[in-house]
Amino acid sequence: MSDEARYAPDQKGAIGSIFAPVAGYGVTISSFFRPTVTEQYPREPARVMPRFHGRHQLNIYPDGLEKCIGCELCAWACPADAILVEAASNTPDHQMSPGERYGRVYQINYLRCIFCGFCIEACPTRALTMTNDFELSDYTRLDEIYDKDRLLAPLPEGAVAAPHPMVEGMNDGDYYRGEVTGPTQAQIDWVREHRPEDPSLKTAKATTDEGDAK
Ligand code: SF4
Ligand code: SF4
Repeated sequence: MSDEARYAPDQKGAIGSIFAPVAGYGVTISSFFRPTVTEQYPREPARVMPRFHGRHQLNIYPDGLEKCIGCELCAWACPADAILVEAASNTPDHQMSPGERYGRVYQINYLRCIFCGFCIEACPTRALTMTNDFELSDYTRLDEIYDKDRLLAPLPEGAVAAPHPMVEGMNDGDYYRGEVTGPTQAQIDWVREHRPEDPSLKTAKATTDEGDAK
């Protein structure tokens, strides 16, 4: 068989030839009776799958300390070199996270990020997760570099903002295992003494007594 014959359209029969000019309308007309699937975005929020990889979030423990320990594993795991982390040491006067260190500088460059999720898999404290937020376009390149202030999760209900001491008697492992369920009165009092104007004091609520957190 020649190539010309092999690739030629099938010949229609008598009935096919009669309806061929209007056959395309059949698709259009049948669509009239199907449910509308048009998304009304942005008037209505777009629907995404629950595990959709969107903007990142740096999570916070229920007492207000940050989960990020500045280990840089997320940055090393990133194939696009989109994450910059600079760690610093926690001190008794400036305890930002449980343990020795915290992420002093944390940036994600969304001009580079390919939303692969390797970084959140690498994070040992579940500090870094991804939200469903995909509205990341902006007007300048600089605005596409998200700093810690744009990545930090909202303060949990009743928590008091870091820095403040860890719950007395708890170590970083206890925090990771979820044994801290909120700030103690001692933590709230510490913030009240050192930062009386801190806005989180207005909503802070002690959920455990000092030394009785377990
Ligand atoms: S999602 Fe992938 S590309 Fe984006 S910051 Fe994480 S590891 Fe890097
Ligand atoms: S987000 Fe997680 S992996 Fe990245 S520096 Fe913080 S603790 Fe380490």
